[in-house]
Amino acid sequence: MTNAPHYPMFIDGEWVDSEAPLGVYSPSTGELVATVACGTAEHANTAVAAAQAAHHRGDWQSMSPDQRADILDTMATRPAARLDELVRLEVLEAGVTIRQAEAFHVGYAIGHLRYFANLARTYPFESAVQSRATSGVVRREPVGVCAGISPWNFPLLLAVWKLGPALAAGNTVVMKPDSQTPLTLLELARSAAECGLPRGVLNVVVGPGSIVGARLAEHPDVRKVAFTGSTEVGRSVMRAASGNVKRVTLELGGKGPNIVLDDANVDLAVDGALFAGWLHAGQACESGTRLLLPDSLHDEFVDRMIARAQTVRIGDPLDPATDMGPVISAKQQASIEAYVESGVREGATLAYEARLPDEPGLQKGHWLAPTIFTDVRSDMTIAREEIFGPVISVLRYSDEDEAVAIANDTEYGLSAGVWSTDVDRARSIADRLEAGTVWVNDWHMVNCRYPFGGYKQSGLGRELGPDALDEYTEQKFIHLGVWDKRTRRAHAMLLSTSPDDAHQAFSTGLSPIGPEEPQQLEQGIDNSALP
Ligand code: NAD
Repeated sequence: MTNAPHYPMFIDGEWVDSEAPLGVYSPSTGELVATVACGTAEHANTAVAAAQAAHHRGDWQSMSPDQRADILDTMATRPAARLDELVRLEVLEAGVTIRQAEAFHVGYAIGHLRYFANLARTYPFESAVQSRATSGVVRREPVGVCAGISPWNFPLLLAVWKLGPALAAGNTVVMKPDSQTPLTLLELARSAAECGLPRGVLNVVVGPGSIVGARLAEHPDVRKVAFTGSTEVGRSVMRAASGNVKRVTLELGGKGPNIVLDDANVDLAVDGALFAGWLHAGQACESGTRLLLPDSLHDEFVDRMIARAQTVRIGDPLDPATDMGPVISAKQQASIEAYVESGVREGATLAYEARLPDEPGLQKGHWLAPTIFTDVRSDMTIAREEIFGPVISVLRYSDEDEAVAIANDTEYGLSAGVWSTDVDRARSIADRLEAGTVWVNDWHMVNCRYPFGGYKQSGLGRELGPDALDEYTEQKFIHLGVWDKRTRRAHAMLLSTSPDDAHQAFSTGLSPIGPEEPQQLEQGIDNSALP
């Protein structure tokens, strides 16, 4: 691809270039898609200073939530009008198939940005509270400068999961996308600039994670960091964030157990198992990578799954007929291949390995044969570590208790699934699984209206759902004191107008600091009057 476009970074409302650009290459052809300015720790500092200045200026946080929601809506509408262009860009940089990019990556990103805009309209930014002894207000205020560090697998969507709630809550943001896939986020920043977002409120700095990402995680003026990526880097982000006790949200790895019960609809579950494990060539944290089959169904299920696997078309992700594209990079390909070798070495059976595309135009891409292992034990590396590639490991179980024990035998806890025609039975198993999301007879159905996040080492906090803005706000209780008899009695703890007053305040149960139940006066939320 000649004449590849160049993308500067977006800092303080300006497009900022750097001396040494980075190349963004197509994972399917190896061709240059675009060049992009490569930021340094200095660029991260400048972006944080711009975000801090915008926060202090207050033109974004002091807008009414409705006004902020209108701007976020417009920010979502512009990319929606250029959907084809964004979808193509996401395919070119991430290697995802065009069908998936349209429905999931870009379609969800736009829908979720609208959802966060709507949350701003309904969120309880301010609630009056009243009890017998206290009247006051509980406010939720923006935390200040938020940093979002996002990965390459769902570049636009996972960036929106961070900047959406942060902006809806009135914060300012510095985003750091993965250097391999920064283009769709930079396009969203272009929309933001065009639709009235004040300067400095959204900044995008591209650059190495160990330099730009690490600087944002440790920066003393950043108050909150939201990260999606590997558990190892997540730990380092958490450590760096401890310097000024930042709020932290982490969306990390997974090793999703996918339990098929003996009464499952086998046709549905076979398709579901492949969908769970191989969507986006297995490069999704919520993938169902451990398939748990009952002894009674094992052989028939594996045979039918291999027959169905042979129909999966691997090839050019821009071709609408393609089911699976490449993996992101040569590094990722080598890492997955090493896991496949470890599976063979540790005694698992390589039951299926697909053929790779042989089109001449794709020979420089990063192709990996979708793979199914059987005879996998829970202690094998392929059953314990996140492979992040199209590799399904089949484990057997004899009864439900054993299935639940195997499912929970992992340091991860992001997603899980159960396939059964008996919803009550599936529900009782779902209740016992240690995972932030459990799908029954389904997979990958992330819904912005409900919380998404991990148990155990899969993360910290939740990114979606009605409480998403909690992670981006500080709560403040304002007590509106009235100089009355009760106040005077309480002050008597120090200022004794009468020796008995303080004691009396407690013993009568009327103390303003006593244990009475507060009553929430305001039932409805009206954000329109709020600045
Ligand atoms: P990663 O964790 O290295 O990178 C994710 C993001 O963090 C990128 O933007 C990266 O630039 C940034 N980063 C890297 N080092 C950093 C540091 N020290 N401080 C702050 N930010 C830093 O993930 P990866 O190398 O792209 O992939 C490695 C593995 O991570 C994958 O094989 C997979 O297991 C996992 N992963 C998980 C997800 C997920 O959605 N949970 C996404 C991508 C990768």
